[in-house]
Formats: sequence, C-alpha cells, structure tokens
Amino acid sequence: MGCTANGVAAALRAAAGAIAEHRDELVELDRAIGDADHGENMKRGFTAVVSSLDESVPADPAAVLKLAATTLISKVGGAAGPLYGTGFLRAATKIGDAEAPDVVAALRAALEGVQARGKAVEQDKTMVDALLPAVAAAEKAADTEGADIAAVLTAAADAAAQGAESTVDLVARKGRASYLGERSAGHMDPGARSTALILRALAEAAR
Ligand code: ADP
Ligand code: MG
Repeated sequence: MGCTANGVAAALRAAAGAIAEHRDELVELDRAIGDADHGENMKRGFTAVVSSLDESVPADPAAVLKLAATTLISKVGGAAGPLYGTGFLRAATKIGDAEAPDVVAALRAALEGVQARGKAVEQDKTMVDALLPAVAAAEKAADTEGADIAAVLTAAADAAAQGAESTVDLVARKGRASYLGERSAGHMDPGARSTALILRALAEAAR
C-alpha cells in the first residue's frame, strides 16, 4: 500500500521534529567547520513547512513534497536551503502514489537534484555522503520480496547514518568547510548529519 498526502505530511512533521530536537547539535557541527547556522537554518525551514501543512495539506503526495521544497528554498537559506529544496522538488516529480518503488525513485531523484545543483561527489564531505549510500541501500532493499516503504526507508536511514559517520575523517572539498582545508577533518559534516536525521524520521514515520 502506498502513502497518502496526509501520510507524507506526517512524515515531514516527524522530520521537522527531529531537526528541532537536534538543532543545537547541528549548530555545533557547523560551528566546528562552518559558520554555526545549519541547525537554526534547518529548524527555521522545517518549522515553516509544518506551519504550511497546518494551514492545509495539499491533495496528493507530490504537492506535499513540492510545498515542502518551495518552503525550504525560501526559508532555510545558506547552501543547504537550495540543495534540500531542489532535492524535495525532484522527489516530488517521482513520488506518484508513494508506493515503495515510488519512494525509492523519489530518493534517487533527490540525490540527482542535489548533485546537479551542488556538483558534490562522494567523499567531498557533504550531504551527498549520506544521501548517496542511502539511495543505494533503498534500491537494494526494494529488490527484496515484499519490501514496503518502512523497509526501504529504514535501509536508507541506516546507510545515511553510516555515511554521515564516514564524513568525520574526510577533508571538505565543497561548501564553506572546504575553506578550512585539512582542518575540516575530524568533524562530522552538518548537512550529512541533517540528511541522516531526516531519513531516520521518515523511516520511523513509515512504520
Ligand atoms: P552554509 O554553508 O551556507 O552556512 P548551511 O550551514 O546551512 O549553509 O549548510 C552547510 C551544509 O551544506 C554542509 O554541511 C554540506 O552538507 C552542505 N553543502 C554545502 N555545499 C554543498 C554542495 N556543493 N553540495 C552538497 N552539499 C553541500
Ligand atoms: Mg553554515
């Protein structure tokens, strides 16, 4: 069974909750290798998404993701706002009825959008290091007989958590952290962490 517009909205509310809960952690990660605004940027953006959903939930999953995208683009700011916005916008084009294969296609589209926009590849120490393995894991999970949305999103969230962890040792080659050169190593990338948090929240909401 797929997921309704209300189901997608509930998942986004869960993501907003996770971002709010981890706001300070994201601020501290960005303080170490950036300008300490990622937690506040993301919290502001996702709080605005929840406010929009409180007003009215759009009719279908694609419209819900599109609303999230436009809200994130206008409210998050920084490097992450346009990247997440593009990711959600691309995801909207593939979410369809939000059956498990649609969710996997939406994740793939989000990754492609983030990479088209930001030009980051694996090991540049960005959100791509969480999202790319998440998509691969979701695609693999989807090959398993009877895999549902919760199963593909849980696989994605597990891989994203590992991917975020893997950014600790990396030297940043994209974004503000790249200005630090070698000194960016030894800290987790804040955007990879926020991606992992969002995917975990989506997976838990899907259960
Ligand atoms: P800013 O760097 O403008 O202060 P944020 O702090 O909100 O913006 O977001 C920083 C995060 O954005 C980084 O941790 C990284 O994950 C992500 N990021 C930055 N540049 C890129 C890029 N070119 N491609 C993918 N992700 C990027
Ligand atoms: Mg920042």
